[in-house]
Amino acid sequence: MKVSQLFTKTSKNVPGDETAKNARLLIQAGYVYKVMAGVYAYTPLGLRVLENIKRIVREEMNAIGGQEIIMSSLQRRETWETTGRWDDEVVDVWFKTKLKDDTELGLAWSHEEAIMEMMQQFVKSYKDLPTSVYQFQTKLRNELRAKSGIMRGREFVMKDMYSLHASAEDLDTYYSGAIEAYNRVYDRLGIGDDTYVTFASGGAFTKFSHEFQTICDAGEDVLYVHREKNIAVNEEVLDDAVKELGIEKSELEKVKSAEVGNIFNFGTDKSETMGIRFTDSDGTQKPIYLASYGIGITRAMGVIVEKFADDKGLVWPESVAPFTVYLVRIGGDEATKQADELYAELTSKGIEVLYDDRDERPGTKFADAELMGMPHRVTVSDRLIEAGKLEHTERTSGEAVQLTRSELVARLG
Ligand code: ATP
Ligand code: MG
Repeated sequence: MKVSQLFTKTSKNVPGDETAKNARLLIQAGYVYKVMAGVYAYTPLGLRVLENIKRIVREEMNAIGGQEIIMSSLQRRETWETTGRWDDEVVDVWFKTKLKDDTELGLAWSHEEAIMEMMQQFVKSYKDLPTSVYQFQTKLRNELRAKSGIMRGREFVMKDMYSLHASAEDLDTYYSGAIEAYNRVYDRLGIGDDTYVTFASGGAFTKFSHEFQTICDAGEDVLYVHREKNIAVNEEVLDDAVKELGIEKSELEKVKSAEVGNIFNFGTDKSETMGIRFTDSDGTQKPIYLASYGIGITRAMGVIVEKFADDKGLVWPESVAPFTVYLVRIGGDEATKQADELYAELTSKGIEVLYDDRDERPGTKFADAELMGMPHRVTVSDRLIEAGKLEHTERTSGEAVQLTRSELVARLG
């Protein structure tokens, strides 16, 4: 893609009310557009990042047998009444609306009950189990505070998966596999080293729920970690946890963190409340064992921004970067010819290139390259051409080396 064709522009201006670093940088670099507090639109650059994150998550969910679906945003009141969660005092983030005939509807803040209601129509017998479904969907939540940029939206993208089982043992096996799949997701997103599976507050140090927390200064949670032992404990269960783990509080480091995912083992609780049963091989009716698995897609993008950005701008890990290379062209006809050729060659090799073909000053192009944060910058200039070289600069280290074109292609390929 050519920068001259991108409708977004980099900008020095950010909305005055935007305090979160992730949103400020993403707005300045032209990745998101702020619609209102907690509500953001994604431009081509931002959408590419989201799609890359989704691709990684999708591959890992497919690998554990997840079947992708997409549910609706409009939900029936009755769907949530069965579990008591239509009540605004039970769920305080509902957005609700009405049909013209005054029938009340909910705007999906979650799809737990909605998916179970649907699955009930398909899963009737032990032969239909186990099964698991997932989706990427926009959730709508009337969050009280929305000061963390895209890390806490009133509208945000979540991956939610649900697995259904005939027995507790079968669920446990699947649940452990899902934890491994989640770890692979965070590794591939580049945040694996700082992401911990914690003992979640809701489950009070049982094995019924787990959070995936990434150490991040902009996060809203507090975590106590033991990096060598790879242990992380939520503040809420700290006292119980240290007792159980046989460690001292002083061994744990207190850090800020962001919940990038969580998983719950409902056992048969939810299906008993909703009356969801299957016919077992002996002909008896039994409640289905259920677990749910969430990942905050847009929150993960925000966390990546917060963790890697520097004073010059965004820094994307290669796996999620919208483009691998930012190609800068400086100079006259020969530079244009050579840059055009390189763009065509890299693109034909499947390397994603954002080509800065604008007639801007070199300083402007370099600053934009840094602000936008692609992992590799390649410069083609008249002066370099005289020496038979190109310049390759890594975004993370800022290190620049001069290479021949074939050396560069080999390096990037
Ligand atoms: P939190 O404690 O942060 O409010 P939650 O417990 O409400 O999260 P879930 O409803 O289980 O979270 O959602 C699953 C995942 O979706 C979370 O782990 C988080 O990564 C993400 N998420 C939750 N709320 C938001 C939000 N308002 N904006 C962006 N991502 C969110
Ligand atoms: Mg919440």
